[in-house]
Amino acid sequence: MRWAQRSRDAFGDRPGHALFGIQQGGVTQELREESAKALRAIEFDGYAVGGLAVGEGQEAMFGVLDYAPDMLPVNKPRYLMGVGKPDDIVGAVKRGIDMMDCVLPSRSGRTGQAFTRHGVVNIKNARHADDPRPLDEACGCPACRGYSRAYLHHVFRAGEMISGMLLTWHNLHYFQEIMAGMREAISENRFAGWEADFHTTRAEGDIAQL
Ligand SMILES: [Zn+2]
Repeated sequence: MRWAQRSRDAFGDRPGHALFGIQQGGVTQELREESAKALRAIEFDGYAVGGLAVGEGQEAMFGVLDYAPDMLPVNKPRYLMGVGKPDDIVGAVKRGIDMMDCVLPSRSGRTGQAFTRHGVVNIKNARHADDPRPLDEACGCPACRGYSRAYLHHVFRAGEMISGMLLTWHNLHYFQEIMAGMREAISENRFAGWEADFHTTRAEGDIAQL
């Protein structure tokens, strides 16, 4: 907390920039409250939930998110660091998180994984080798509009850079669509229905092999 105060003092008032205080406390509610109280007193532009999503598992993470965001000011952005998979993101937003950061869309893209409404697609799998369909028929991203699963499979197997580029493009597009969908649902007061659809579609699994 001394460091937090020092950084606040050193940062000063910078229009167009924001300094976030990072709540710590692991999975202990009392420590989270102690941390939040001290950070609120310093007054940051936004607040992050730190020390979470570090391998404790989704159940424990959601357990902390059931109370941790509520300890931070509702009129300031609340940021969950290093999250995550699509269902982690949806569960975090449901619990009051506004923003996240993660390498997953690009790192997964480089290793042949695509996130879709129907779950994860491993493009290296042989089932895609002759499939002329896109990753996701309903996706408007350039990788889905212009390329087949067969092509994406081929360039991944061939070690071509375009493979990681296209899958990353798709993944980023999909993550943005999730966030846009949740923003719209929240503003129209129908988040519960949106969340139910999200889980139902994922549970259907990937399209059947041709
Ligand atoms: Zn796509």
